[in-house]
Amino acid sequence: MKTILVTGGAGFIGSHLCEYLLHKGDFVICVDNLFTGSKENIRHLLQNSNFKFIEHDIIDPLHIEDRKIDQIYNLACPASPVHYQFNPIRTIKANTLGVINVLGLAKKHKARILQASTSEVYGDPTEHPQTESYRGNVNTIGPRACYDEGKRVAETLFFDYHRAHKLEIRVARIFNTYGPRMAKNDGRVVSNFIVQALNNDDITIYGSGKQTRSFCFVSDLVLALHKLMNAENFTGPVNLGNPEELTMTEIAEKIINLSGSRSKMVFRPLPEDDPKQRRPDISLAKAKLGWQPSVKVDDGLKKTIDYFRTVC
Ligand code: NAD
Ligand code: UDP
Repeated sequence: MKTILVTGGAGFIGSHLCEYLLHKGDFVICVDNLFTGSKENIRHLLQNSNFKFIEHDIIDPLHIEDRKIDQIYNLACPASPVHYQFNPIRTIKANTLGVINVLGLAKKHKARILQASTSEVYGDPTEHPQTESYRGNVNTIGPRACYDEGKRVAETLFFDYHRAHKLEIRVARIFNTYGPRMAKNDGRVVSNFIVQALNNDDITIYGSGKQTRSFCFVSDLVLALHKLMNAENFTGPVNLGNPEELTMTEIAEKIINLSGSRSKMVFRPLPEDDPKQRRPDISLAKAKLGWQPSVKVDDGLKKTIDYFRTVC
């Protein structure tokens, strides 16, 4: 039985990951400050004797002495633009001070550590689709920079700890992921559109709606994170996402149709620095991890809509 620490484990992706690791037979320690995550996401795990929840902010040093930790997944960071821009300085702290604290813990325990990085390291990309060798187009002083630059420096810290201390690292560049347990107020496109559709409210398209994203269902992503963590001799960075690319009006139409909604689309101003196009090249993940997503967008959206019907 391995002991695995998941920071951000009470969040959307983290709660699915904790669940998956417990099913695999691991002992899971979930660390979360409950800023965007919630105890509701892990309530069904709290009775499990192989699960331990610690309410803690990774910006403060983290000491775990009672068990030897084998692996750490570092997911602790608000992920939606609304939440990471709410307190941008804390977002940067989570990705610098917080990452240094978690790397220090990994070093002490000689644990392998995986960073949940992001397609945002590519910024508003000028290459399409994005491969891992593309170095990005990020505005260092814009409203998204606290997250984008934070995640970029976190990658740098991971590789410096790897070179300086021989720490075993894994870096996943996660593209837009969706599914049950997204927070309904997090402002991300899938949760916003589904909540609006279920209430027959206007669907708020920002800008022309022609900008694209590529959406990966959470169960596919969790499998990829687990494969990456357990792959030998491969640090990444590696793109993890679904290469099927959709415009925002296309995703809105799908959600309206699948939920049987009477909502209409309305157009609102595009937020500053909003990337125009995003699609992962996942050749490296296919070759190194033998992974590609298997859940079709319509099927994943149906499951997500079913979940939101229970919480809206
Ligand atoms: P989320 O907001 O649901 O989860 C983040 C979790 O981290 C929450 O439970 C939150 O309370 C916790 N957290 C935030 N700051 C913390 C801190 N300082 N100390 C301890 N806990 C803290 O978001 P998510 O979508 O599940 O994202 C998880 C990770 O994956 C994040 O690191 C995010 O940047 C990354 N990621 C997600 C996506 C996506 O599309 N969902 C895409 C790229 C990268
Ligand atoms: N978006 C939108 N309406 C919304 C929320 C988001 O049109 O109600 C757009 C947003 O401008 C962006 C895309 O959807 O172009 C994805 O936004 P999200 O916040 O989900 O993720 P990110 O921009 O970080 O990829």
